[in-house]
Amino acid sequence: MNFYELLGVSPESDTAEIKAAYRRLARKYHPDVNPDGARLFKKISAAYDTLSDEKKRKTYDTLNGIFKKSATDSVKQSDNIKQKEKQFKQTKNKDFSKVFGSFFEKSSEIPVDGKDINTDIIISLKEAINGSTRTVNVVHSELCPKCCGRKFINGTKCSVCNGTGEYTKHKKITVKIPSNVKNNTKLRIKGEGCDGKFGGKKGDLYLFIHIEETSNLKFDNLNILYNVPITPYEAVLGCDINIPVLNGHVKLKLPKMTASGQKFRLAGQGLKRAGKIGDMIVTVTIEIPSRLSDDEIKLYEKLKKLSAYDIRENLLNE
Ligand SMILES: [Zn+2]
Repeated sequence: MNFYELLGVSPESDTAEIKAAYRRLARKYHPDVNPDGARLFKKISAAYDTLSDEKKRKTYDTLNGIFKKSATDSVKQSDNIKQKEKQFKQTKNKDFSKVFGSFFEKSSEIPVDGKDINTDIIISLKEAINGSTRTVNVVHSELCPKCCGRKFINGTKCSVCNGTGEYTKHKKITVKIPSNVKNNTKLRIKGEGCDGKFGGKKGDLYLFIHIEETSNLKFDNLNILYNVPITPYEAVLGCDINIPVLNGHVKLKLPKMTASGQKFRLAGQGLKRAGKIGDMIVTVTIEIPSRLSDDEIKLYEKLKKLSAYDIRENLLNE
C-alpha cells in the first residue's frame, strides 16, 4: 500500500486534500482516541510527512513509479484551467471518499494479532517415553496475497479472496515431541498460528498432547492405572519387576503368593499437575507365556505330579 492509498488520496491530490485526509484519519486513529490505532497512526503520519512536503513527495513519486494521470491535459488550455481544476477537484473528491470509505471504514486497518490454533495429538506411551516427531495438519488462515487483508482494491471487492481478506490454507508442520512428555501437556509452537493483519503479530500453535489409553494403560485424573502381566512362578515366588514409566522404570516388589488381579499402589508415580502428583496403580495379572520350552513343560508335568492340593475342592461349598 503506497502513501496515497494509505491516506486515501490520489497522486493528483493537492496539498490541501492531503492535509484534509490526514486530519480526518488522525482524528480516527490518534493513539489518544484509539489505543489500537498507534501503529497505523505512525504509518499515516509518515505518509503525510512525505506527501505534504513537495520535495519529499517528488522523490517518493519517482522512487515508487507514481505518475500524475491527467495533469498535463489541464495545463494546455490556460483559459479553461480554473474551470477544469474545479471539475477535477470535484471528481477527485468523489473518488477520494470512495477510496477512503473502502479502506478505512469497511475494513479498519488497526493491527490485529493472528489467532492461536489449538490442536490435539494422541501419542502412544512408547512415544511419550522416547519422544517422537509428528506431522500435524494445521488449517491456517493467511492474509490474502492480493489485497493483503484489505478486502477491497480501489473500492472493488478483491477477486482472490472474494472480499474476506484472507484465505485458508492447509499446512503441514513437523513437530518434535520431547521424551518423557506427560499426559495433557500443552506444547507451544511459536508463530505457527494464523497470520496477523496490518502488522499484527502471528498467532501461535498449541498442541495438546494426550497419551493414548490402551487396555493396559488408563488415566484416572492424576493416577495412572496400569495392567501388568506376571508369570506363574513370579506370582508364587515373589520378585522385583520393572515397570516402564515416563522417566525410566519403576521397581515393584511382588510378595510371595501374589494373586492375579492384585493391586499395588506406587505413591507419587502418577501425573503431575498444578503442584499435585498422582499415584500409579498397578494391577497384576498372571499370564502364561505364549512360548514355553520343552524343559519348562517337563517342569510343569513334575509340578502336576507333586501337587496334592485340589484347587477346586471347595468350589461347591463356597
Ligand atoms: Zn483479497
